[in-house]
Amino acid sequence: MEVAEDFIQRLRSVIGAGRQGLHEPTFNGNEKRYLEECIDSGYVSSVGEFVNSFEHKFADFVGASFCVALANGTTALQLALTVGGIKPGDEVLLPALSFVATASAVVHAGAVPHFVDVDADSWGIDPSALRRHLEAIAESRSGIFINKETGRRIRGLVPMHTLGHPSRVDQLVEIAEEFDLLLVEDAAESLGSYWGKTHTGLFGSMGVFSFNGNKTMTTGGGGALVTADPELASRAKHLSTTARIAHQWEFDHDEVGFNFRMPNVNAALGVAQLEQTQGFIAKHRTLFNLYQEAFSGTALGKLKSEREGTLSNYWLQAFELSPGEAHFRDEIMRACIGQDVQVRPLWKPLNGLAPYLSYPSAPTPVTEDLYARVICLPSSPAIVKGM
Ligand SMILES: *Cc1c(COP(=O)(O)O)cnc(C)c1O
Repeated sequence: MEVAEDFIQRLRSVIGAGRQGLHEPTFNGNEKRYLEECIDSGYVSSVGEFVNSFEHKFADFVGASFCVALANGTTALQLALTVGGIKPGDEVLLPALSFVATASAVVHAGAVPHFVDVDADSWGIDPSALRRHLEAIAESRSGIFINKETGRRIRGLVPMHTLGHPSRVDQLVEIAEEFDLLLVEDAAESLGSYWGKTHTGLFGSMGVFSFNGNKTMTTGGGGALVTADPELASRAKHLSTTARIAHQWEFDHDEVGFNFRMPNVNAALGVAQLEQTQGFIAKHRTLFNLYQEAFSGTALGKLKSEREGTLSNYWLQAFELSPGEAHFRDEIMRACIGQDVQVRPLWKPLNGLAPYLSYPSAPTPVTEDLYARVICLPSSPAIVKGM
């Protein structure tokens, strides 16, 4: 049988007939009830009971001490870098394999993105390659690490947990300590993913989540910053709410603030979604098992599976074509999308995108190889029947 046709038949054995989105939200809980309560309360914007309660419930869910609810994941990343002390002109290391927001947040924080490669099995920053790169380019001048090639300070490290698969955070934490780097995890895709017994997003100074409509759970648009540090948490909340000093009537502000807070109406949706999130994650795992079965015995490649010692939320299922079969990628995607079955490649390597071409980068052969070989599959929890 023709390769693309065989691929679709295997997909169809899991998703059934008809159109299928890449990742669509499920609203089967208290969404309408809480939205109505929120509207009736009159508090729909940045102040209200739902946003406070969402922060507490989300912190509990991931096991964080503090949570600040924000407008989206991108602003959450930008804010984390800013409150973490990243200064204009500082370099921030990040994987070339990520959604563009990881890089744009660095630029919006005034810093310089510096791209590094991922490894072939975690799909997150490769700690050995990162160490080799830093040893080659970084020079300690009275304890401050400077990029010898650019003269700028290297100050931050932002690992990302690709499609929900945890990066090698244990080793990345060691490197961050050794080179005195602020560690902020981009955990936008990894709600419900653990390295050992610790939730992703809790390894660095701060972790950041996204509740966009295509993520594990949604607030429509939304994000969160989590931290164990009470000072970072209170500064993040203060800066995200225009840096206004609390007062009965006075508009007094002690810094240039942002308007980055999550509106109460979005948080109402979030509280309802959080009640179902454990169920969503269970379905993602079931879906992985179904696809695993459907694609067993194909010589074309394999399904991305979790590494030992980690628990993946399996947010997006991904099929990795074997190195010799990469040339089938576009033919398969064209055939699927032609039948309204939404599949996607991984993101184009960030260091190859026009707005980022002039920024520093380590060699990124693994990122480029994965980009050429991976196809993301329909991953909506609703594909798995029964709640
Ligand atoms: C979704 C996502 C973001 C951004 O989140 P938004 O809420 O859409 O701003 C950042 N990084 C990664 C890796 C993401 O997947």
